[in-house]
Amino acid sequence: GKRAFIAGVADDNGYGWAIAKSLAAAGAEILVGTWVPALNIFETSLRRGKFDESRVLRNGSLMEITKVYPLDAVYDGPEDVPEDVKTNKRYSGASNWTVKEVVETVKKDFGTIDILVHSLANGPEVSKPLLETSRYGYLTAVSASSYSFVSLLKHFLPIMNPGGATISLTYIASERTIPGYGGGMSSAKAALESDTRVLAYEAGKKGQIRVNTISAGPLGSRAAKAIGF
Ligand code: NAD
Repeated sequence: GKRAFIAGVADDNGYGWAIAKSLAAAGAEILVGTWVPALNIFETSLRRGKFDESRVLRNGSLMEITKVYPLDAVYDGPEDVPEDVKTNKRYSGASNWTVKEVVETVKKDFGTIDILVHSLANGPEVSKPLLETSRYGYLTAVSASSYSFVSLLKHFLPIMNPGGATISLTYIASERTIPGYGGGMSSAKAALESDTRVLAYEAGKKGQIRVNTISAGPLGSRAAKAIGF
């Protein structure tokens, strides 16, 4: 069977969860990467059976998540984590959650993966029009929503089996003006789409790995509700 790592699952409402279910239904082993500040509540809810209804697959069985990895995809390695984040209560309870460390742990646990799913985005100023977006807000949106994929692929590539595949989720606001999708998030999705083409070339050549992105329709996920979509 195939093994999949899905980055960006913290509840049962988003695209990451739905993709995990499809992959599980197709027989894949499921590993997820959960944003560190959301880890506790996600693991507690899983353990208490809060997601059991939405874990049901087409064949009636329950999706099994083999392991949940804490992840913050804006940090490539421990040397990139600022002191205030390191000591933050929401972060200090977990460990090895930078991209590099997560991949090292997955390698130790399982050796290789076949499928990498990027289902995460963050834009602190998403509700601000681009004209009112700060440099910090813009760069943070690109860091969390675009470079996070470059970094995940860069680190996972050496442990991805040839013939493997990656997928990310983009949004039409990259090509057309969608008022309300601000803060540099439209820019971040445009970068993600361009990177998909370049990385498909590079990862295809280097590791026989496919790189694709899906432009998803509107879904009432936690992220979407937070911006009033
Ligand atoms: P979601 O809230 O379920 O998923 C986003 C996840 O990203 C959350 O679990 C959050 O905890 C995680 N995250 C945020 N910052 C992170 C970080 N630094 N490191 C690790 N994880 C982090 O919402 P969703 O709408 O399902 O989003 C999944 C993907 O789908 C995103 O790329 C989003 O842009 C894209 N998308 C969503 C819609 C929509 O309407 N919901 C439409 C098109 C594309």
